[in-house]
Amino acid sequence: MIPVFEPIISEDEIAMVVDALRKGEVSGTFGKYIDDFESEFAAYVGCKFGVAVNSGTSALHLAVAALDLERGDEILVSASTNIATALAALHNGVIPVPVDSEPETWNLDLDLIEGLITPKTKAIIPVHLYGHPVDMDRLMEIANKHNLIVIEDCAESHGATVRGRMTGSFGQMACFSFYANKVITTGEGGMITTNDEDYAERLRLLRNLAFINPRFRHELAGFNFRMPGFVAALGLAQFRKIQKIVDEKRRVAHSYNEKLKNIPGLQLPPEKDWAKNVYWMYGIVVKPEFGISRDKLTEALNERGIQTRTFFCPMNQQPVLEKMEGFRKTPCPVADSLWETGLYLPSAWNLSEENVSFIADAIREAPGWEG
Ligand SMILES: *Cc1c(COP(=O)(O)O)cnc(C)c1O
Repeated sequence: MIPVFEPIISEDEIAMVVDALRKGEVSGTFGKYIDDFESEFAAYVGCKFGVAVNSGTSALHLAVAALDLERGDEILVSASTNIATALAALHNGVIPVPVDSEPETWNLDLDLIEGLITPKTKAIIPVHLYGHPVDMDRLMEIANKHNLIVIEDCAESHGATVRGRMTGSFGQMACFSFYANKVITTGEGGMITTNDEDYAERLRLLRNLAFINPRFRHELAGFNFRMPGFVAALGLAQFRKIQKIVDEKRRVAHSYNEKLKNIPGLQLPPEKDWAKNVYWMYGIVVKPEFGISRDKLTEALNERGIQTRTFFCPMNQQPVLEKMEGFRKTPCPVADSLWETGLYLPSAWNLSEENVSFIADAIREAPGWEG
């Protein structure tokens, strides 16, 4: 089976983890590896502060908690994304409001935002889906006009840029994931980046059970979302290769683009002229002119040992959200159709040209293929 991703861990990364363990950097919020990983990663993103946590989901949860919103307030979220974004709202007593996707980039449709804002709307969490950035210049303009706080979901966009500026440096906060299949990994892990010292301080406080003075007396309901020191060591070692990883992700994508071009009914991932896509996963959309459905194509690929995944189930169709009091099931026809017709292909950064050709040929031949 050619998997959709593979964590690639080499000896230098293992050595750094062992070094952290030898130095006793096991748990807590201190240690050289946590500090270095936070500061080097934040600097790369173009932010002053980085707050490492134990997952991307925790990063989103903590960022929303730091806003200190009222129960029943609303946050606009991309309809097509990981459930973690909506759960970050839900677990903080805030209502996630899905914003439909845009057919070309699959990111949230900026033209819909103003129509969804109510007096309760306090923030927006755009995701840079599959590594293609949202047009953050335009989004920030809309958000500033309506006093919305912006939390970028950069779980899939490490290194992606908008007009040369890094995703994660536009909003008040940005959340990254370092899960095994992300651009860089710590196994499980995440980070929030920000340029706002008050947010950084509040995030650090809430991350660590909101310990204050005297210790063991608490005024705020904090969390234990700490990242272990040896996990940060893995992150730091991975981070030092990020340029190579992003370059290789783009090599794989360009190679797919070349080999899959001009197939009727097959929509390939975009790269707008103002954007740098890091192609976290190489997604395609199967339209009727392709001849067979997405599910039939999936079957044909799986039969040949090629693993695929569907696009996300949109937030407007999530039973867990529909049960929420005050949830607005906004119509999301584009995100609905992406859920039916989108899939992503093996996208590990070390995927060989040979395997890309094998996969591309399997796709080309699938409409006439008899299993
Ligand atoms: C992976 C991912 C998350 C969750 O990150 P974890 O580290 O797995 O908790 C959130 N949002 C998006 C868009 C993701 O891709």
